[in-house]
Amino acid sequence: MLARFIISAAKPEQFPDRVDGHDLPEVAFLGRSNVGKSSLLNALVGRDGLAFTSARPGCTQLINFFKVGEDMVFADLPGYGYARVPKDIKAEWKQLVESYLEQRRQLELCVILLDSRRGWMEKDLELKEWLEFHQRQFVVVATKVDKLSKNEERRGMDAIRRQMQDAEPLPFSAVTSRGVREIWQAISKIKSAR
Ligand code: GDP
Repeated sequence: MLARFIISAAKPEQFPDRVDGHDLPEVAFLGRSNVGKSSLLNALVGRDGLAFTSARPGCTQLINFFKVGEDMVFADLPGYGYARVPKDIKAEWKQLVESYLEQRRQLELCVILLDSRRGWMEKDLELKEWLEFHQRQFVVVATKVDKLSKNEERRGMDAIRRQMQDAEPLPFSAVTSRGVREIWQAISKIKSAR
């Protein structure tokens, strides 16, 4: 899958409008710092794509936009929940991300990443409630499942499921590539639903 960097946006005016003359559906990736977001993006796009890198926590908060394949955009949102980030950067995150999630017309699906060992943490639940309130469609990906035994995984997935109505979390590992196909299936639905 070919991926091309479009822009890093620090404010809504910089969000790309049309990409190569087209109004493309967009998928946003959200999660705590270190949850494995860059690794997931790299696994989805594969070797032909770009190398996605995780932003250093505490740095300027940016949303990175990529054209993926012929007809889709991925928005890589800045990670949250890093304890040592100064207050003003946290406020910046909230403002940028909320205006994105609230206003972004092209946004068709959010992917919430959770560390499968930790499950839902407070900031993740806040995000989920926010998305539900604003009626944004989302899927939940449980990352780093290779770090869990079968039993731990079952318990972890059960705990994640308990906070979701009628939806299944998708287990993922960047080490084994498990889950790549299922995540792509979930993403592809937005195209067929258009
Ligand atoms: P980001 O900050 O959310 O972009 O997270 P990264 O993708 O940079 O990953 C954070 C750390 O977790 C890195 O040390 C990765 O090597 C590790 N990591 C990410 N995904 C996996 C995974 O599926 N399995 C394992 N074992 N480690 C992972």
